[in-house]
Amino acid sequence: MESKLEKIVALAKRRGFVYPGSDIYGGLAGTWDYGPLGVALKNNIKNLWWRMFVDSRDDMYGMDAAILMNPKAWEASGHVAGFADPLGEKMFNTMFRTNVGAGEEAQTTYLRPETAGGIFVNFKNVVDSFHPKLPFGIAQIGKAFRNEIAPRDFLFRTREFEQMEIEWFTRESEWEKWFDFWRERMREWVVEIGLEKSHVHETEVPEKDRAHYSRRTIDFDYDFPFGRGELYGLAYRGDFDLSAHAKASGAELSVLDETDERVVPHVVEPSFGVDRTVLAVLDSAYAEDEMGGEKRIFLRLNPAIAPVKAAVFPLVSNKEPIVAKAREIYSSLKPLVPSIQFDDIGNIGKRYRRQDEIGTPACITVDYQTLEDDTVTVRDRDSGKQERVAAKELDIHLTIG
Ligand code: ATP
Repeated sequence: MESKLEKIVALAKRRGFVYPGSDIYGGLAGTWDYGPLGVALKNNIKNLWWRMFVDSRDDMYGMDAAILMNPKAWEASGHVAGFADPLGEKMFNTMFRTNVGAGEEAQTTYLRPETAGGIFVNFKNVVDSFHPKLPFGIAQIGKAFRNEIAPRDFLFRTREFEQMEIEWFTRESEWEKWFDFWRERMREWVVEIGLEKSHVHETEVPEKDRAHYSRRTIDFDYDFPFGRGELYGLAYRGDFDLSAHAKASGAELSVLDETDERVVPHVVEPSFGVDRTVLAVLDSAYAEDEMGGEKRIFLRLNPAIAPVKAAVFPLVSNKEPIVAKAREIYSSLKPLVPSIQFDDIGNIGKRYRRQDEIGTPACITVDYQTLEDDTVTVRDRDSGKQERVAAKELDIHLTIG
């Protein structure tokens, strides 16, 4: 029997969410490529995160730093010496090494193993441009790379992945308050993206298992189909990074407090993996039931992140007035719901199945009655129930539905 993970991987490939990386060449371990629906789902997740944690706050600064950084930054942060996993007798540094420049001039550096580094080296730039008062945060979404010894479990452990990270700068005396504050926000996020609550567990990470920079860490673990694993992390990094970069670079990485004293802020870091989020979202949403005497697979995605929000079908594809009316309704909704799809391929049952499998919350069907009274049916993905709605009220129906 197929395991749940195998079913999710198969659906992801069949429907264009995620393909194995370099598929026609037999793949490349630890890499996955997002297809048309996967990139839409991933963008919806990232946009929701950015709205919730950056745009809706006055105390958060967004940024997008280069992936390639001066190697001195990774020496100062302790990653060159300490970012390693055990491999046989010796430790193996999991940073990807690369060369910048040619010939004698070539300089060895690393693909960043976490996005946080780009934030710390820009701390002074942001402070000089915006003069923020403590506490404030800098947030970034971007790729990170780790030469994992054993990449596995689909999107869970890959060698190239994306992170959504916040470095929250606070006075040392207030770090615990802000640690609790961000823990609460992370809980809200988990609900917002529709994860199955009973699958999420918070665990205090003991000192021996913490990253070299962390003085307290809570992992948000998730019950993935293959077992429990880290979904997100919340770490108190103290003043480790700013102090280390100040020492190594000679830059002044401090702020003036209200008494005009220079203080090096302490850091609370909520860190979210995008790809593990996609996997947890697919796992929580994946459902099977029986409808009309047939087995059905559907994704109960939260409409806020569903890659396709609605689909419009003509009941039959060979009756011109019905097709024309469906096209007209589709075009009128497209500006309002950009991810809407038009589908007239195959029979209506097949079209419903296809939309169910990609998690489309609403299917709108134009039928013979539409031509008489300008109403359409709207079918709910989860219950399969249909209701008749006036075509001119569809915009309201879709935006609040
Ligand atoms: P793990 O213990 O599973 O290796 P970690 O503790 O090394 O993870 P962090 O350094 O805390 O992970 O990275 C922050 C987040 O980045 C993780 O919570 C996870 O969501 C994501 N992440 C880390 N490594 C990977 C990976 N190899 N593939 C996909 N996502 C990852």
